[in-house]
This record gives sequence, C-alpha cells and structure tokens, in this order.
Amino acid sequence: MEKFESRFKKAHFQFIPKRQMEKFEKLGLCEHVLKVVSNKKFVKPSEIQEKTIPLILDGKDVVAGSATGSGKTLAFGAGMIKNVLKGKGIQGLVLTPTRELAEQVAEALGEFGYYKGLEVVPVYGGVSIGHQKKKLVYADIVVATPGRLLDHLKQRSVDLSKVGFLVLDEADRMWDMGFKYDVGKIVAACPRKRQTLLFSATISGDLADFSDKYMKAPVEVLVDNHVDTSKLRQIYYDVRDGEKFSLMVHLLKSDNGRLSMVFCNTRRNADFVEKNLRGNGVDARVIHGGMDQRKRIRVLKEFSEGRVSVIVCTDVAARGLDIQGVSHIYNYDLPSDPKDYIHRIGRTARAGESGLAVNIVASRDYDNFSNVLRRNDGLKVARVETPRFDRVRIEMIERKPMRKGNFRGNSRGGPKSKGSYNNRGRASSRTDVGQRTMRKSRGSRDGRSRSPVRKSKSGFRGSGRNTKNRVSRR
Ligand code: AMP
Repeated sequence: MEKFESRFKKAHFQFIPKRQMEKFEKLGLCEHVLKVVSNKKFVKPSEIQEKTIPLILDGKDVVAGSATGSGKTLAFGAGMIKNVLKGKGIQGLVLTPTRELAEQVAEALGEFGYYKGLEVVPVYGGVSIGHQKKKLVYADIVVATPGRLLDHLKQRSVDLSKVGFLVLDEADRMWDMGFKYDVGKIVAACPRKRQTLLFSATISGDLADFSDKYMKAPVEVLVDNHVDTSKLRQIYYDVRDGEKFSLMVHLLKSDNGRLSMVFCNTRRNADFVEKNLRGNGVDARVIHGGMDQRKRIRVLKEFSEGRVSVIVCTDVAARGLDIQGVSHIYNYDLPSDPKDYIHRIGRTARAGESGLAVNIVASRDYDNFSNVLRRNDGLKVARVETPRFDRVRIEMIERKPMRKGNFRGNSRGGPKSKGSYNNRGRASSRTDVGQRTMRKSRGSRDGRSRSPVRKSKSGFRGSGRNTKNRVSRR
C-alpha cells in the first residue's frame, strides 16, 4: 500500500471540477473509486465502462468483448471495490493468462481500492510461493494466473470459499494457452452463489460453452475495437530477407520514438534481435516467456519508467500490457495469428496519443502478412518507400543443443557464427533459415499445408479494400 501513497499524495490535494465526475457518479461508482477516478483525472467513462458498470453493479453476470486498453479493469473493479469488505477473506478473484497481466491488474485494483484499504494480492508462478502464502492470509482480492493458484489450492494456502466476484480477464488468451481445464477446477472451488464476469477480446465457441456452464443468464456486451485508428498510422516496408535487421536499426535510430516495442514471433528471435540491437548502439531490453519472472518485471519497470526506450518482446510476454507512451510498434516478425496483430498495434495510440505501427516485411513474412490483412477487415497499412540505410553487423546467438532424434539440419553451416556481417544472403539469412525450419516443422506437425494466401503480382491479398496495400517488388 505504501507505494501508492506517495503517488496519490500529490493528486489528493488537487481541485477536481465537480462536473467532470458527474458522468462517473451516474454509473453508480462508490465514493472510494470516485476519488481515485478524480485523482487520475479521467474525463469520461470509456465505452466498456459505460456499458458494463451499471450491469455489474446491478449484480448481473456479464460477458464483455473488449481488449486491454478499453478501461475494462475499472469496469470489473467498480463492482468488486464497492462490495468487497476489508478483512473478511478473499471475496474477489481475477484470473489472468499471464504473470505480467496479473501484476498489472493487481496494481490497478490496488489503486482503485486504495481508499477502502483493500489488500489486493497478485499470485503467479516463477516467484517464491512462500511469500505469496503469507500475503494470502490478509488478501481481500486475489489476481492470479491459473497454474499457481492451483498450486495454492493443492497446498491449502488459499481459501476461495468466500469468493463472490469471479472475473476471467483476457479469457480468449487463457483458452489459447490451454488453461481451460485449470480454470474449470478453480471455478469449482468457488461458491456457486457468486457474480461471474468474463472479459475477452474475442468470444469463441469455447467461451460460450464456459458461460453456458458457469454463468447465470449473462448479459453480452460488445464494444468497438479500442484502437483509435484516427491516431494510429500503420505502414510497411517491403525488404529483402537479409535487410530486415539493418533497416530496423536505421528506423529505431532515426524515429525519435518515445517508447518502442519490437515484436518477434519466437523467444530465440527476440534474443537475437535484442543482442544485435545492443551490439549496434540501440539500448534495448528483451522480454519473453523463457525469462525469470523477476527479470521480466524489472525490464517492464525500466521500460514503463522510460529508462529504456526499446523493448523486444514476444506476444505472450507483451499480451495485455498497458504501458503509457508507447509511440512505435515494430513487427520485426509478422505474427502468425492475425489476432496478435491487433493486440500488438493496440499497445500504441492509447489515451488520445498518436502512434505508428511499422511492419518490416520480407519474403518469409508474406503469408503471415497476407493473413493479417485478410482476417482483419478494414485495416489500412500503407506501403512506404524504404529509406537508404547502412548494413550493420550482426552476430548469431548460440543455439540450444538439439534433443536426440529431433535434429533438423541447417544446410548452411553450424549453429554459431560470431562476427558475421549482414551481407545479403550470408550471415543474416542463417536466422531466416532457422525461421523457415521452424515454420516448416509446425506445418508438418499438425499436418496442415501452408496458407494459400500469397503475395500476388499486384500486392498482398488482404481484404480487397485496401488499395494502399499494393506492392511492387523491386
Ligand atoms: P485497461 O483496459 O483496464 O487495461 O485500462 C487501460 C488504461 O486506461 C489504464 O491506464 C487506465 O488507467 C486507463 N483508463 C481507464 N479508464 C479510463 C477513463 N475512463 N479515461 C481515461 N483513461 C482510463
């Protein structure tokens, strides 16, 4: 709690015009949350808040289609903070797919519940369980990832018998990550008499099954995509395979971005990109699911406080993060899941600020890029002429030893080649070879053929409406 005190001290004495608060008062927020909203200088409720808070405060189960950045934490927090009592056991439980999101949601709920003195405890894996056990004794609200919460249930260090509010946050991602059964077990440990809220960027059939089974006459609420497209410009560069990295270094050094996020599809690529950005004078940090949790939190803190202006990340690590002031999103790899593209670009152009999403497209990205355009109807991604840039030095990263019987050869040589240069078709294409190998193996594993959507002579085949998406190969 102390950490929030200093942050709020300053805002506490500020004069907040009464009229500003009327719109929030009308929604029925309790005085404790209203004070925080006023300190935060929120001017008006977001669409998801306007549509869901009255229902939530009325005790209804709600299925809400909205992504991070839409203001959903306040939406579900409003009901919890109003009804949860201090020191009466865990009455509010939020399940999130990732550790970072758990930390972020817990922090936000801690802020909203500050004036009521509520104890909000984040619970996730990768850190000491003993410390969490001590904190759980005093918890009023718990924000947890499913795996670690199940560990606590098994060890009887958490009591969910008083949970009156259950929230599934980013439920689609939880299902994508295979948490469906874990979530089922956790729900079974909660009382039947409770309010259940489900927030998700997309509502699939699986989630409909969940709401049929575990929710009482849920009201479905959908809001428009939270990305403000008037503030977000999306562009792409069409480059040769060996040019991607050099172009990105050039752009990062010249874009004057406040905070930039560079997205890669794999941990290995993220490590590769971070290492080489640093080697080329760009102060970057990496964050992905293979890293120690404390390190992940430290990197996020450095980034959100602006001490580092570039983070290289994978989708899992970056999913749901709400970091203020992200001005640039770079897709170093185009995502294989078109939904991830929307989540990625949603990290920028938030809270009325403008943003730029930059796609660095080479031949290995054509399938993914075509899918992104085809599946996300109405996206406008303009082709931009590639600027002149210098070739930079790259170093390969050490490949982890192959497991026996799982060797996929790299016909161009060994796994490690220090001090190589990004001359077209040489060292840099080794990374590309690595990627092709991975994609091929995925295809052969699930038996599906690769996407039929290819780059045509006239450009990427997207929704058909985007005339700006035309590509002429140089
Ligand atoms: P969320 O979708 O809950 O992750 O919220 C995204 C960001 O929007 C957070 O930084 C919130 O503090 C902020 N936010 C939430 N509600 C509002 C609002 N009504 N007006 C302005 N910002 C808001």
